[in-house]
Amino acid sequence: MRLSLLLVALVLVSGCSSMRKTDVVTQGSMINALLAGQYDGTFTDRDVSGWGDLGIGTFDRLDGEMIMLDGRVYQANAKSEVRVMTRYRAPFATMKKFKPDGVFSVHAKLTLEELKSAVDAHLADRNHVYAIRVKGRFSAVSVRSVPPQQKPYPPLTEVVKTQPVFERKDISGVLVGFFVPQYAQGMNVAGYHFHFLSDARDFGGHVLALEIVSGDVALDRADEWRIILPDDEAFASWHGEGEGDAAIKAVESRK
Ligand SMILES: [Zn+2]
Repeated sequence: MRLSLLLVALVLVSGCSSMRKTDVVTQGSMINALLAGQYDGTFTDRDVSGWGDLGIGTFDRLDGEMIMLDGRVYQANAKSEVRVMTRYRAPFATMKKFKPDGVFSVHAKLTLEELKSAVDAHLADRNHVYAIRVKGRFSAVSVRSVPPQQKPYPPLTEVVKTQPVFERKDISGVLVGFFVPQYAQGMNVAGYHFHFLSDARDFGGHVLALEIVSGDVALDRADEWRIILPDDEAFASWHGEGEGDAAIKAVESRK
């Protein structure tokens, strides 16, 4: 009897120790639900903080762009104001406990597309999710934000048609974002998605274009991906139709 109990205990212990340790990225909701106009913030600040200390997202009613850096959440709103947010709700956000696997430096002037190519060369593969932080000097940064929406919520493709765009020259700041594999288009934004926050904490938003002069690019690969589904009527009654690749590219990049 005693021996069999010991055996069970040993099996349990060895079973646990053989479990693979994973490095998790967590998101609340998905980009297709946001595209469909699901802007109610079903996730709390406590939820989002529990998912990591670096990431991006948006706020209740689509009220501006979210940047989390070193565990602090910033809102870059449609009036080009930046403020620290402590109490908020979010309809969509992606976060990671940031533990860089590697850092490389940029010493030449690169456009956003050239910066993406430089990061490409440092990805271990293209089928994992990577959290990315770029601290640098920029000769130009162009961002957008979006104003809070009223019900009935228009789809995101309509909202971005009138999105305010802001530009700054010669600015120091941080790009925060993710690389997401192509197979996951619609669950998140496939490819690169960056938000910007100035070092002075007075300028930020969803990046449309930039020119980096110099900087340090830190990459952190996740091998586990958690998706927390919204618990509200809008999500429950959604038919789950995807907007498709073209619509996602239209809302995420410069037209
Ligand atoms: Zn964005």
